[in-house]
Amino acid sequence: MNRSIRTRRIGLNEARFLLVYRDSMLIPGTIRRSAVAVFFAGVFGLGSVAPLRAVEFSTVVIDAGHGGNDQGTMWGGVKESMLTLQVAERLEVELQKRGLKTAMTRRSDVFTALCDRPEIANRYPRSIFVSIHFNSYPGASRRGVETYYGRPESLPLARAIQSRMAPRLRTDDRGVKQRLDFRVLRVTNSPAVLVECGFISNPIERRMAVTDVYQNALVQAISDGIMAEHQQPPGIFSRTYHALLGWARDRVDELEGDLRPWL
Ligand SMILES: [Zn+2]
Repeated sequence: MNRSIRTRRIGLNEARFLLVYRDSMLIPGTIRRSAVAVFFAGVFGLGSVAPLRAVEFSTVVIDAGHGGNDQGTMWGGVKESMLTLQVAERLEVELQKRGLKTAMTRRSDVFTALCDRPEIANRYPRSIFVSIHFNSYPGASRRGVETYYGRPESLPLARAIQSRMAPRLRTDDRGVKQRLDFRVLRVTNSPAVLVECGFISNPIERRMAVTDVYQNALVQAISDGIMAEHQQPPGIFSRTYHALLGWARDRVDELEGDLRPWL
């Protein structure tokens, strides 16, 4: 090793060149890898390419909350489990119309164990999980919609849905909230949200919630939110490109790690 290199500070590009040069002398196989890495780093610029977005899906797993013996909350003869199924079925139709694939955790008034629901979702790669619920509160005046998420990567989806619901339904925007104690949100591998679609303990909101008008508006808002976050899984070219770029970044990181004592 040349001592003069140790004693002066050198720029990164200079250092990369030196490493490529050194590798070409020492290990014939490495020169190609280094050259490709530096080529990619130079042509595309490290960090200049947007990373793949967290939400990238082709299937929406729709979970109608409760069902069977578990009717959820019930007020004025309206069962939550019945409403959630109605909304889930409408959502299924709407999302298919918009070109997405869907899967349902239940299709009838049956009980699907809470522990099964994330497992159902996890069967679908490149999916998101949307659980439909209705709210209740002892005081009749509370109203509005809110969206829960668990892991941070689900937050953009929760925001996209929540921001569209309240204006569309002309009810209170109760915001986006993190709940790590909801198993369906925690155990699901894909981005997962739980949408509370209104208070059936509020007589006015309850009367609205059973109507076609309300349910259609709700489904439009949720679908708009989903579509806003929707990005097709990358095609083969894009996947190859990102894989190559990731690999090039790793190589350059390695090279720079080797160089650290010199810099
Ligand atoms: Zn519920």
